[in-house]
Amino acid sequence: MPRNPRAQKSNKTSKRKDQREWVWEQVLKAIEPQPLISISEFCDGHLQLSSRDAEPGPYRLSRTPYAKEPMDACSPSSKYRKIVLWTGTQLMKTQVELNVVYYYAVNSPTSILFVFSNAEQGKLLVKTRINPMIDSNPDLKERIGSTRTNSKGDTANYKEFAGGFLKLGSGQSAASLKSTPCEIVIIDEFDEMPDNVEGQGTVEALAGERSSTFPGRKLIVSSTTTNKDSKIAKLYETTDKRHPFVKCPHCGEWIEFLWDGMRFNFEGQLVKNVWYECPKCHKKIDEHYKKRMVENKQWIPTNKNPTDPTAIGFWMSNLYSPWKSWASIATEYLIASDELKKGNHSPMTSFYNNILALPYEAGVDKPDWEQLYIKAKRESRYHRGQIPQEVLVLTSGADVQQNRIEVEIKGWGRNGRCFSIDYYQIMCPPGTTVENVNNQCWNDYEQMVLRKTFYREDGVPMQMLANAMDRGHFTPQVNAFWMRMNNPRFFLVRGNPNMVSRISMEKEDKGGNKKDKKNAQYYGSSYKYYDVGVNTLKSEVYANLLRKEQVQDGVVLNTPYMMYFPDDYDEEYYKQLTAEKFIPPSSKYKHGLWVTERDRNEVLDCTNYNFVCFYKLNLHSFGEKEYKLLEEHLKTQPKIADMKKATAQKRVATLVSKGVRY
Ligand SMILES: [Zn+2]
Repeated sequence: MPRNPRAQKSNKTSKRKDQREWVWEQVLKAIEPQPLISISEFCDGHLQLSSRDAEPGPYRLSRTPYAKEPMDACSPSSKYRKIVLWTGTQLMKTQVELNVVYYYAVNSPTSILFVFSNAEQGKLLVKTRINPMIDSNPDLKERIGSTRTNSKGDTANYKEFAGGFLKLGSGQSAASLKSTPCEIVIIDEFDEMPDNVEGQGTVEALAGERSSTFPGRKLIVSSTTTNKDSKIAKLYETTDKRHPFVKCPHCGEWIEFLWDGMRFNFEGQLVKNVWYECPKCHKKIDEHYKKRMVENKQWIPTNKNPTDPTAIGFWMSNLYSPWKSWASIATEYLIASDELKKGNHSPMTSFYNNILALPYEAGVDKPDWEQLYIKAKRESRYHRGQIPQEVLVLTSGADVQQNRIEVEIKGWGRNGRCFSIDYYQIMCPPGTTVENVNNQCWNDYEQMVLRKTFYREDGVPMQMLANAMDRGHFTPQVNAFWMRMNNPRFFLVRGNPNMVSRISMEKEDKGGNKKDKKNAQYYGSSYKYYDVGVNTLKSEVYANLLRKEQVQDGVVLNTPYMMYFPDDYDEEYYKQLTAEKFIPPSSKYKHGLWVTERDRNEVLDCTNYNFVCFYKLNLHSFGEKEYKLLEEHLKTQPKIADMKKATAQKRVATLVSKGVRY
């Protein structure tokens, strides 16, 4: 159908009009684009997939029916100028791009720029997909073949055909993007593109700039996503944001396949049974319905007012994939969850980005301070300072600040079960700081933590088995204090955000900064310390905070690695405990990044150092035998009634010998 209604008028009518108008109508008629077959119609059953493809032979749209609308939006007859494809991996992106190239080379020749994040990626696609496509399709080969004798017309970066060409561009080279104007611009893996190409602007601006003169221009941008701030997610926001909707076989309502609705039974990492629960009728949709549902899908816009009305956006996850079963997706999730518990975020990031086509933020897994606070208030069965009978080992973690030392005491039960016993802010006397190594607070720390005898609720006396102190701030003073303590149960740690393991081998500091005249008195000795993988530990703490108590037949099981708090910590404690947020790995931060969302986060730091103690004591490898031995040992200790007096006497004696006055 011609698009201009004026061109439909007969010549007879026109002749009666002004001559100039008649001429103009003829001109319009001449340039009226011919009705064109769409990309999906052209490729379906016609394009031959090479032996390099997963399913060689004629391309069948029925295999991936959801690719129809995205392809057709790229067709010349579509009004859309910008086509945004945000999907999981292996769904349709590359095939849509190849079909676009094939269509425009054979059916509607024009200039095509295909942009990759770097030149190697482009060359790889030419080698593995484009050249095999040319060889498998005589109509394409014939066109490019006509120039094949000329080496300039068919190179790794450039393929000429009658009426147009295909040129590769790289996100690393501004010149490759702006040298030639192109009508069709395809940008692959948009999220991997640099923010600014050689200081000259964004990829889409550079590549799109000179195509603006073409009336039929198309900017086709595709990508999987990385995190919330991902480029494809931002671009998708400007479109009408289409989602694939399918019809529930039970109630007939249009629904989406979303991760929230997936249901599965499993044992360990083995998925036994998987189905989708309809959000409308709550009936079970077994996977065998998936194929037919996807065949009859509808792309429905979810954004009524796109900021760019010429843009159309498609988003789709692998829950619709004909090649990935729901069971395999659930298995992938279970594996990623297990890794996450160990502090490894990569598999879960990949699961979200590549399978669910969603940005991944550990923030999703960030514990809520208020919930922790309320839970402890309601359910905790001990107060601050009390040590539950289950506790077998005590440790402490300390963070040194300008005017105070903050310390948390933790008690450990079997299987990493962790009880916060007390939290101290040991303050310097007013007007003084920790910079003076003789400041009262250092002594207070020694007495309140290192030398103190604690009593479990059944009267069993306990001593600290490991105490970690951060030497990141006030290093010379912390070093000097460590030297003075000369206590094998007291050690120094330094946070290393790039370290994946939890704790390093013992390290040595041989003297510090000589230019630091103020602290010169502390240099010259050798101080020992450990580097600790703070990011790994933080992930682990967050995963533990989110653990749910396991209950079987109404009986609460002793869930490993559960964390407990007394019922009387204030809100501030929990706010600091959850003060940081994880930004998942990206090209900028290979290991991801923890950012503080509040001024204070000492509680989280002290918690981390307690976990360092836990691992340094090897408690994570303890079995029933070791726990029994520990228990037996504690039973033989004289209980509080006999001990109280003796301890008090011993304490006074120590203070006197040290010359400390309270
Ligand atoms: Zn339903």
